[in-house]
Amino acid sequence: MRCTRCAGLRVSEIIYDGGNRIPALRCVHCGDVVDHVIAFNRQRLSHQKPRRARMHIYRNVRWKKNQHATMA
Ligand SMILES: [Zn+2]
Repeated sequence: MRCTRCAGLRVSEIIYDGGNRIPALRCVHCGDVVDHVIAFNRQRLSHQKPRRARMHIYRNVRWKKNQHATMA
């Protein structure tokens, strides 16, 4: 497996987190550690397309506020 940051060699490692043993992959070049949770999150984020939903909501709210201000 290759490192996503430097394309270096990753080695499997066991991380101890709060008594839990988590299988992870550590890069021998840059020291980046990826466990299954991080890998899942990165995969999820990379598949996610940037959406403008928040911007639309913000614009709608501002537009409504302006409408309200002109009416008052
Ligand atoms: Zn690396």
